Amino acid sequence: MGDETDSICPRCDDETIHRVVAMKEKKIHLVVCGRCNSQHRYRPSLATMTRKVALPSERQAKVLKKVESAMTSRPQLSLKEWQALKEVAGEMEPLPYDPTASYSEKQIVSHPTFGLGFVRKVIDASKVEVVFEREVKILVMNRRK
Ligand SMILES: [Zn+2]
Repeated sequence: MGDETDSICPRCDDETIHRVVAMKEKKIHLVVCGRCNSQHRYRPSLATMTRKVALPSERQAKVLKKVESAMTSRPQLSLKEWQALKEVAGEMEPLPYDPTASYSEKQIVSHPTFGLGFVRKVIDASKVEVVFEREVKILVMNRRK
């Protein structure tokens, strides 16, 4: 209360300094514009709004970390975790499964029979462990053409 904050003023149609006159649930509710003196609801400044938008890469990393820990503790994924994984997979562009290709951990592969899979472990130069929606499979990689 009584603090000054940047807010968007609908009358000035600009970002101006505002004085906080009312709080609601610990958030700024009503403000008075320092330029035109009109009272209106608090609208966060553009700078505040931009700051609040999390980078997609951060969010991806968070989801991947969660999925990863869930997978090391349990052989099966819960539906919720699978959905989160699929969401990340959608943004990451899954690699089509090809036994002659090479894969590394945390990659998303798309298998013609099993669907989307998450590379959990590289077993050796020719095998990877992939978690699919219903089962965990050992897939061949780096097969000679
Ligand atoms: Zn104003």
